[in-house]
Amino acid sequence: MLAVMEWEMADSVPHLTKHACQVWLADIRDLQPWHIQLLNPEEKERVQSFRKEQDRAHFIIGCVLSRFVLAAQLNMAPHEVPIDRTCPACRKAHGRPQLPDRSFQWSISHSGERVLVAFTAGTPVGVDVEWLDDSYALDIRQMANEVLAEEEKYHLFQASPQEQRRVFYTYWTRKEAILKATGKGLQISPLHVIVSAPHQTPRLLYLKGDPGCLNRAAMYPLEMDNGYVASLALLGEAGKQIERYDARMLLRKGFGWKDDYRKMEQ
Ligand SMILES: [Zn+2]
Repeated sequence: MLAVMEWEMADSVPHLTKHACQVWLADIRDLQPWHIQLLNPEEKERVQSFRKEQDRAHFIIGCVLSRFVLAAQLNMAPHEVPIDRTCPACRKAHGRPQLPDRSFQWSISHSGERVLVAFTAGTPVGVDVEWLDDSYALDIRQMANEVLAEEEKYHLFQASPQEQRRVFYTYWTRKEAILKATGKGLQISPLHVIVSAPHQTPRLLYLKGDPGCLNRAAMYPLEMDNGYVASLALLGEAGKQIERYDARMLLRKGFGWKDDYRKMEQ
């Protein structure tokens, strides 16, 4: 259950102002059969390529949330939102999703049973969520060597063994959120992004090759329910208002669209 008080149960999609970032939290168990009707042919084809049920659900929920929230801003039907995924390198449809006019920016992350989508009216944004799956042993030393800078490793190993998984993944989500916001993603090693320690306010401390980024980057913690950690990064003027919405009602009821899409199913 999404029993987190800070996430407001939305019963409509609010207007996204210049001064705000909307973060929507979803649970893949709220996937509905009619959701697939919101997707464009390219997205439907992509759905077919996933072998695992959970991967399919992650992708569909990410598309559906993107389309509902953008449709409300653009005043159009969710399936008509012109989402473009053309990869700048190879022209295939696996690039970062965007609108042709770049009027809105959004970032999608999923892990375990959660999907997060963060939207802005143009400010570069990155969000990352990780499930603290404790069903397997984590080689924390090896992972730390691949991801964490020396001072970060120091904080990690200061934590008790039971807390290390959470500490590691808090670092991880902070770094990922920054990398996603810069649009550089996997081109930069997480070793070259240094962030504040998990018990401190989230903050970017160093980004290799881009010292100016420190002044533009703002980071925010996202309070998740037990077993998850998540971080949000924005690159732009400071002081954005972060709005957190629980997407359960949107996904179940479709805010006026459900009957239309159910008809398309038949
Ligand atoms: Zn490509």
